[in-house]
Amino acid sequence: MSICPKNKSSKGHRDQRRANWKMSVPSMGKCSKCGALVLPHRVCKACGTYNKKQVIKVED
Ligand SMILES: [Zn+2]
Repeated sequence: MSICPKNKSSKGHRDQRRANWKMSVPSMGKCSKCGALVLPHRVCKACGTYNKKQVIKVED
């Protein structure tokens, strides 16, 4: 079964839906160890820590 839209949305209607994508600022968190700005669910690139655990080695 596939999705079957009842009415085709016009180009303007469709494009307007995608017009404001870049407006939202990506939600950033702070690393619990070094305090650097990190994306959620990502290893901190500054100190290599995720969930208060050392995950990757960071060269000094
Ligand atoms: Zn960090």
